Amino acid sequence: MARAPFELAGVRVAPGSRAQIDVPVAKLYTHAPLHIPVEVIHGRQSGPVLLVCGAIHGDEINGVEIVRRLLRSSAVRGLRGTLIAVPIVNVFGFVQHSRYLPDRRDLNRCFPGSESGSLGSRVAALFREQIVDLATHIIDLHTGAIHRTNLPQIRAQLTPGGETEAMAMAFGVPVILNAELREGSLRHYAQGNGVPVLTYEAGEALRFDEWAIAPGVRGVRRVMRSIGMLTSDRRRTAPPAAEVANGSSWARATIDGILRPKVRLGARVAKGELLGLVADPFGNVEGEVRANADGIVIGMSNLPLANEGEALFHVARFDAIEEAESAIETFQSDYESLPEGLNLK
Ligand SMILES: [Zn+2]
Repeated sequence: MARAPFELAGVRVAPGSRAQIDVPVAKLYTHAPLHIPVEVIHGRQSGPVLLVCGAIHGDEINGVEIVRRLLRSSAVRGLRGTLIAVPIVNVFGFVQHSRYLPDRRDLNRCFPGSESGSLGSRVAALFREQIVDLATHIIDLHTGAIHRTNLPQIRAQLTPGGETEAMAMAFGVPVILNAELREGSLRHYAQGNGVPVLTYEAGEALRFDEWAIAPGVRGVRRVMRSIGMLTSDRRRTAPPAAEVANGSSWARATIDGILRPKVRLGARVAKGELLGLVADPFGNVEGEVRANADGIVIGMSNLPLANEGEALFHVARFDAIEEAESAIETFQSDYESLPEGLNLK
């Protein structure tokens, strides 16, 4: 018996075909309609329904390029199941180069949302009803916030032997942060419904970081292979090693001033180690920023201007720190030859 078509926002996609669908979200006050752009690839054979989405924070654009490359890759042509690719969820913020919605709300704190709530709440409800609720698996693509960059990492709530853990290991980036769920996030909503969700965090807002995009595309394809959506890849090798971090914390500016970092992204640091110096413009007063735990720098500020209390270095703690360090070294050697080279440690 032939497989049923896949229906999204009233559009039916036949098995073995793909379609671009504009899901109406609102009108701008110019009366111009605004859509969430979606591409559905509906395989001939049944399987998981994977949602891959980017720019839920409108200025986090590495994911937009990850989705574009995924859709253009030959690997997805013969997939099993269904891929729902959404390059830009927060279309309002994307147009404005902003993380937020026009009402300054963070869309990733608005789930599950409601049709009668704030703008953020309405957009969340629409995205959820029309798109998210169709998915059996989700990969949500993010970057660091503005002026902050992240070492490529997966954030997920892991239960030993669970499907989320298997997806996280399959993705193949060196660090998995076993992070608790934030109320109102897409991850919180979906995980609460038993849908395994990965958040991929890599690079900086408003940038295309090749060392974040390339492993992101490969990671999504590896997850698709691990959940049985892709079987055609001849080079089926085990994913690169990844280590789980069980906690993390930010080292913050101790005074207002100008930052000179002393470590790079990916550096292994010891508790009390100097991470950076913050000084006034004359250098009369200097404050030290030190690591508050042994760990690895998985995120940091790229802006040398800091106010007291500002988060500057994100240090993740590992039980197996040696293994984490070597996973990062392997990752570095896989991606350092890129045109814009990865420059860790
Ligand atoms: Zn984000």
